[in-house]
Amino acid sequence: MRKINLIGSTGSIGVQTLDVMRSHPEEFNLEALSFGSNFKVGIEQIEEFTPKLISVQSEAIAQEVKKHISYKAEIMHGLEGLTEAAVYGEADILVNAVMGRVGLEPTIKAIQSGKDVAIANKETLVMAGSIVTALSEKYGTRLIPVDSEHSAIAQCLHGNKEKEVSKLILTASGGSFRDLSREELKHVTVKEALNHPNWNMGAKITIDSATMMNKGLEVIEAKWLFDMAYDDIDVLLHKESIIHSMVEYIDGSILAHLGTPDMRVPIQYALSEPNRLDLKGGDRLKLWEVGTLHFEKMDYDRFRCLKMAFEAGRAGGIAPAVLNAANEVAVSLFLEGRISFLDIEVFVEKALHRHTPISNPSLEDIVSADKEVRSDVLSYLS
Ligand code: NDP
Ligand code: MG
Repeated sequence: MRKINLIGSTGSIGVQTLDVMRSHPEEFNLEALSFGSNFKVGIEQIEEFTPKLISVQSEAIAQEVKKHISYKAEIMHGLEGLTEAAVYGEADILVNAVMGRVGLEPTIKAIQSGKDVAIANKETLVMAGSIVTALSEKYGTRLIPVDSEHSAIAQCLHGNKEKEVSKLILTASGGSFRDLSREELKHVTVKEALNHPNWNMGAKITIDSATMMNKGLEVIEAKWLFDMAYDDIDVLLHKESIIHSMVEYIDGSILAHLGTPDMRVPIQYALSEPNRLDLKGGDRLKLWEVGTLHFEKMDYDRFRCLKMAFEAGRAGGIAPAVLNAANEVAVSLFLEGRISFLDIEVFVEKALHRHTPISNPSLEDIVSADKEVRSDVLSYLS
């Protein structure tokens, strides 16, 4: 029985994590749960999984939970509560399924408390990959990929020697606007951007997929999870999202991981590996129905966010944290209808140009750069 703490339970990854746990009650038990403000979904999850510790974003929601809960549990709120939920008790694994920068401290604290972290929250690794991976090594804990590409790569690497690997190949569906020209991108709406062709995900990552920033964040994530040089990470456009990623070996062999686009598969594997469990429900991949798979070389001029992410990753220091902070703010401005789709990349580019580089940044350097960039980007509005 694996004991699990889950933060971000009401989001797309959180809900699917609980689906996996529900279908294998003999394998998993939920110890602590945290969500933001989606009380309706949150309270149902609480009553079903009866975690001992619950944390929500605000005190007001914590009061609501107290009123409605039918059993005795510890109820907390805010960042302190979020971190307590991450490190709580005897759990073996933290599933970090919150969106964005808020996932950083809980990840660090969970590692320091000796827990493995199943990490969906890629922003944490983008901001502070060197610090998080060094801590994980120091405390002898593991960072287990949840992102489908990284789960695929981890499975294709399975049992193979580092020195035999020549390249990681991340596949990209291209997102909602993959067939539009840059000219056509000028006028796209929020609603259109939120309509991803293959995956049903939270709003922020859906926009990141449309700008291709998601793949950029994943390149940086892959660098840290697999200790690879940026020159040895490739991105390939693959519209069907059937091959989730690949590993090329020194003899030219390529191992690929195939499956339907269903996040429950990598989530379940993250919780059960090295074992595999039956996937309850969901379609099996019928390759004869798929018929043909398509691949295209990535166009870095078309997808400038991907290019910027590679550049920020190679620059290192605080540059990836700057990229991430600027992107988080720009995406939320776009979702609020305050800037256009193409402004997202303009804002990120401006933030990257304006920041003062710091090499070997401390956690404090990263946190303060993140904060500064967020207010800097808001000033571009006027
Ligand atoms: P969602 O926006 O759907 O969910 C985010 C979750 O975090 C919600 O439960 C939300 O609570 C919670 N949350 C947000 N802010 C806070 C806070 N301050 N305190 C406590 N909880 C908070 O995101 P996704 O599930 O789509 O993505 C989560 C992460 O996983 C992201 O980093 C994303 O890049 C990554 N990922 C997602 C994939 C997907 O298929 N969705 C695929 C691969 C990676 P509430 O809604 O109650 O306010
Ligand atoms: Mg992914």
